Parts: sequence; structure tokens; C-alpha cells
Amino acid sequence: MASFRLERVIDICHWNDKLFSFRTTRDPGFRFRNGQFIMLGLPGENRPVTRAYSIASANHEDHMEFFSIKVEDGKLTSRLQHIAPGDEVLVSAKPVGTLVIEDLNPGKRLFLLATGTGLAPFLSVIQDPETYEAFEHVYLVHGVRRVQDLAYREFIEHDLPHHEYLGELIDGRLHYYPTVTREPFAHQGRIPELMLSGRLCNDLDIMPLNAKQDRAMVCGNMNMLRDTSAALQQLGFEISPSQGVPGDFVIERAFVDS
Ligand SMILES: Cc1cc2nc3c(=O)[nH]c(=O)nc-3n(C[C@H](O)[C@H](O)[C@H](O)COP(=O)(O)OP(=O)(O)OC[C@H]3O[C@@H](n4cnc5c(N)ncnc54)[C@H](O)[C@@H]3O)c2cc1C
Repeated sequence: MASFRLERVIDICHWNDKLFSFRTTRDPGFRFRNGQFIMLGLPGENRPVTRAYSIASANHEDHMEFFSIKVEDGKLTSRLQHIAPGDEVLVSAKPVGTLVIEDLNPGKRLFLLATGTGLAPFLSVIQDPETYEAFEHVYLVHGVRRVQDLAYREFIEHDLPHHEYLGELIDGRLHYYPTVTREPFAHQGRIPELMLSGRLCNDLDIMPLNAKQDRAMVCGNMNMLRDTSAALQQLGFEISPSQGVPGDFVIERAFVDS
């Protein structure tokens, strides 16, 4: 089994009945690239149940943050959702993952396409100054079922643009596009259709998607990955074939459908 460290829970936020996020301490020696994930579990078991978790905080911060689903009978999250400040969690020592901007060809606009907790790695990417060195504009598209599932909306729309250090860098360059599938909302519909129909770019009032200058990162469940990858490929984007080999877009499986 991979080696694990113990980190202490600092803070917890319950967004609703299905979503929560929490902050933990971060070992000063733990290094990661924004967009990567670790394995996370609860201590005190002979063979701890561990699950993959994207790191939602940026690598310049001294804490770590995770954004989690609550699965009622989930082996890990049925218990993880009850953690309290001061509790400990197990965090694997080696971060991994394919959602890193180094694996994208040079480009001008970056589209971060997420559903549900697939937002987590992009919370890290949008707080990374290197993202704005590599791309002129960053578009964060978050698809959810219910309006109340738009976690971190306030943070993205209000807190980040006023951030002491990142605010100036982000100002006018980070664009947020929340979309809801099962309730009325300003933007509605699934990400692949929004891209293929041209509605995404129309709504954002920008030029249509263009594989020559646009790059994308995709994180969601298996169906979302399949359909979004197919839409990008239809638009002429080429996927990064493997880690370390750049492409026009990269993907990560955030969770499997039951
Ligand atoms: C690379 C990678 C990164 C991941 N990052 C995150 C993350 O940042 N946050 C997070 O909450 N989960 C993430 N997951 C999913 C996570 O590993 C677990 O599946 C999740 O924590 C539920 O664990 P569980 O043991 O409670 O339930 P499981 O037994 O693992 O899952 C039970 C069922 O719940 C559903 N489910 C599982 N995870 C999710 C989810 N995230 N959203 C919606 N439905 C889900 C599926 O239908 C699954 O079959 C990631 C998975 C991968 C492979």
C-alpha cells in the first residue's frame, strides 16, 4: 500500500445534503502540482478504505482542501462526512494525475470543464499563477443538477477576484460559467451540447471554440468524460495520449457511475 501521512482537519463546510468540503493541515514536505489527486482515508482501521481525492487548494497554500460527495452508503464518505475539526485523516504521500497544464499544447484560451465534484482539481488550477502565465483567458464551466450544488460559487465570483495577491492577475481573465440541468437557471444544459451547439461561446460572448488556440481540461463521471471528449474531438481537439505527452485536452475520471 502507498505510504500515508496523518493530517488534522482544520475546518469543514457542509454545502448541502450531498456535498461538503474540508481543510486539513499540510506537511511542509508534501509537494504537488495543481490539478493532481491523492488517496484519502480514515485512520484507526486495520485496512483503511481509501479513495482518490483531487486537491482543491493550490500548491502555494499551507493547508490542503478537499471537496467531497456524501454517498449515503459509500464505504468512505458515509463516515468521512461526519469528521470534525481536530480529527485526523490519512493522505497518501505521492500525488498523481493527468490534469496538469504541463500536458497541454501551448494555447491562448483554457476551458476547464467539470461536473459535480469534478470541480475540485480546477479550484486548484484557477488559483495557480502559472495558469495565467500560460493562458490569456480561463473559462471555468461547472455543470450540476441543482442550483444548490453550485458549491464555491461565491468564492469564484467574488472572493477570488478580490484576493490580495491573485485578484489583479485574475481580473478580467477568469470567467465562470455555471450550468444547471434539472432546475431553471441562467445557464442550462449539459456541457457537450453547450459546446457543440455554440451556446457556451455565445453566452460568454467570445469567438467559437477553435482547436488551434483553445485548450481544455475535463473532469467528471465516466459518461461526462466520454461525451465531452467526443464533443471536443468532433471540434478537432486531440487528447493528450498519456501523461507527459501534450495534447489539446486532458481528462481525469473524478468518479464512476453506479
Ligand atoms: C482520480 C479521482 C479523483 C477523485 N476526486 C474526488 C473528489 O475530489 N471528490 C469526491 O467527492 N470524489 C472524488 N473521487 C471519487 C472518490 O474516489 C470516491 O468515489 C468518493 O469519495 C465516494 O467514496 P465512497 O467510498 O463513499 O463511495 P464509493 O463506494 O467509492 O462510490 C459509491 C457510488 O457513489 C457514486 N460516487 C462516488 N463518488 C462520487 C462523486 N464524487 N460524485 C458523485 N457520485 C459519486 C458512484 O455512483 C459510486 O458508484 C475521485 C475519483 C477518482 C478516480
